[in-house]
Amino acid sequence: MSGLYVHIPFCNEKCHYCDFYSGNQLYLIEDYVNAIVHEIALRESYLSDKEINTIYFGGGTPSLLSFVQIFKILEEIRLRFTVKSDAEITLECNPENINFDYLVRVASVGINRISLGVQFLDDEVLRKFNRQHSKSLILNSLNVLGSSSIQNVSVDLIYSVPTISDKSLVSSLELLLTYDIKHFSAYSLTISKNSKLFWKIRSGEVVENDENDFVRQYWLINNALITAGYIQYEVSNYAKDSFVSRHNLAYWNQIPYLGVGVSAHSYNLHSRQWNSLNIKKYIRNLEKGIIDVDIETLSDIDKYNEYVILKLRTFHGISNNYVKISFDSKIYSHFCESINRMKGLGHFDFIGDMIFSKNSDLLLADYLAKNLMF
Ligand code: SF4
Repeated sequence: MSGLYVHIPFCNEKCHYCDFYSGNQLYLIEDYVNAIVHEIALRESYLSDKEINTIYFGGGTPSLLSFVQIFKILEEIRLRFTVKSDAEITLECNPENINFDYLVRVASVGINRISLGVQFLDDEVLRKFNRQHSKSLILNSLNVLGSSSIQNVSVDLIYSVPTISDKSLVSSLELLLTYDIKHFSAYSLTISKNSKLFWKIRSGEVVENDENDFVRQYWLINNALITAGYIQYEVSNYAKDSFVSRHNLAYWNQIPYLGVGVSAHSYNLHSRQWNSLNIKKYIRNLEKGIIDVDIETLSDIDKYNEYVILKLRTFHGISNNYVKISFDSKIYSHFCESINRMKGLGHFDFIGDMIFSKNSDLLLADYLAKNLMF
């Protein structure tokens, strides 16, 4: 089983906290879609298992694509791979692009999951960070989604954002929980040097949150979502019933995936590859049939380190036996010694062969993994 990721690096405007590579040259979208179709054809042999369980259109703002452009890409994927009849096919959408007709059309070409970029529900903060929608537009898009045939809806939130109070965060969550949302991703704000926000903080215009704000707001979200019946299946991800994201799980379970488009990453168990960063160059290269990727071959130590990091962040946990049979005796001894050293600290649950981060310590998962890394 494999996954496919399609990167759409276009946005109408730049949000002030964002450091993702994206451009506003929307006139390039049609050429870019043709380049993606070409890349899919050229990289058909990258995945040894051609059965596709999840396709994810991420960005950027993939909802800037028309349904015809999405169809073109999906058609090429279906030509080159075997897309399972129940594959999860996700489109990241911004609220300002959602309307009933658009949803009907994207559903007709195969989209069955929408990941909605809400981020926050406070009009003042939305304006301050240059988001292109208001609170009422977000709520309207949730209503439209509720009346559409696409019932698998995920909402992205950002917390520990300057000027968002705990009270505002809690009331936003209460409001969102009145909608039929199957999945939440909630990430704390990271401030990158490449974002406008970084310079606003530097100049004193915005005051950065501290670690206490981050921890407090993490628990506010966690308590609200767990109380509402969501399962926390990864540090930042929560799902109702069977709506755990297959795209996320494929990544955390180290299932091979092909990433197409500018800056997209691919993984095939042995190496990681990533495409170059320039939209115009990407289009020009594909017109000539050139694929411009950097490759990092993964050593056993890399694979072990990735395994412990990814597994400790999820509800899957680490299998002692898997480490024993997959890695050499030096790595396995290191693993056993590290686990024994940390056993007394009470951060892990041990169930049979499996080792899990305790729910109360999931926030420490990266720190715990560092202690197990080779
Ligand atoms: S946050 Fe999303 S919509 Fe905003 S600039 Fe970044 S990629 Fe585009």
